Amino acid sequence: MKAIRVRAFGPPEVMRLEEVPDPAPGPGQVLVRLRAAGVNPVETYIRSGAYARRPALPYTPGNDAAGIVEAIGDGVRGVSAGDRVYTSETVTGAYAELALCDASRVHPLPAGVSYAQGAAVGIPCATAWRALFQRARAVPGETVLVHGASGGVGIAAVQIARAAGLRVFGTAGTAEGIALVLREGALAVFDHRSAEHMEEAMAATGGRGFDVILEMLSNVNLARDLKILAMGGRVVVIGSRGTVEIDPRDTMARDASIVGMSLFNMPDGDRAVVHAALVAGLESGTLRPVIGRELPLSAAAESHAAVMSPGAKGKIVLVP
Ligand code: NAP
Repeated sequence: MKAIRVRAFGPPEVMRLEEVPDPAPGPGQVLVRLRAAGVNPVETYIRSGAYARRPALPYTPGNDAAGIVEAIGDGVRGVSAGDRVYTSETVTGAYAELALCDASRVHPLPAGVSYAQGAAVGIPCATAWRALFQRARAVPGETVLVHGASGGVGIAAVQIARAAGLRVFGTAGTAEGIALVLREGALAVFDHRSAEHMEEAMAATGGRGFDVILEMLSNVNLARDLKILAMGGRVVVIGSRGTVEIDPRDTMARDASIVGMSLFNMPDGDRAVVHAALVAGLESGTLRPVIGRELPLSAAAESHAAVMSPGAKGKIVLVP
């Protein structure tokens, strides 16, 4: 099969398309012929060598993909060759024509959901669901700000929160991104490149503040997020690319919480809950991943540059 291989950590160009042997499923494993692979920011951090988790070299990047089950290993139940599936993690990497997965990381892809959309579920939608319900404990009727709503996690969060009966607001950095987030269900969307957007967001709540803020760039926004929380408000730190100074008094004044999360820490029981909810959302149409750009597998380097550039409008996927 063809697969992207990384032989040394470094810039996007270290990713090269190579011919490698087809993997074969061992006990408890599923082999999936991939039709699309999702590109996530974390894959760029890992490729650069700067991330805490470093795979042994050489490796094939990627966690999220969708395709058709080609073969199953001994002991696998509930998945059969020919099934349409999406993956939430792989053993051999997702930027490839085939991927080996643990059977627990393969989930049904409902009819009517494209492979590209399936490749947008694993990390982004699971992060959004876990942040909202398992970390922030959001309940219907609450008001949420998705700070960075135009990207993979953000659009999923807007759709999921809206379907759950939350009042959803978002931010984006371009006119196109703002229009997209509005289309996907936000009541109002603010431009996070504007110095006044926090005040505008606060005004949209009538001065009460947000019960929940999902934060995609905490090093830039956290200090000001704490000032626009409602009493008992929770900020979930999803993304951060540096350090930030906060005034702890802002949390005291509101009985507020700052909650961190990494999807890598999610226990298996929680993962099963999250993917049951996501599959139901895909089936009912409340969860409709938005694809911003499709690129061929050979353009993996370009996809990594694109995912780290401003102007998000949904997911970037690679097509083998
Ligand atoms: P993405 O698709 O590249 O989207 C990035 C988002 O950040 C876009 O909506 C972008 O908006 C927005 N953004 C840019 N400047 C911002 C600002 N000043 N304030 C708020 N938002 C801003 O990435 P993603 O997959 O959604 O992931 C978002 C972040 O969460 C990344 O840092 C990623 O590493 C992290 N993440 C963490 C976990 C976890 O387990 N903790 C899981 C998944 C992702 P514009 O482009 O419109 O400006």
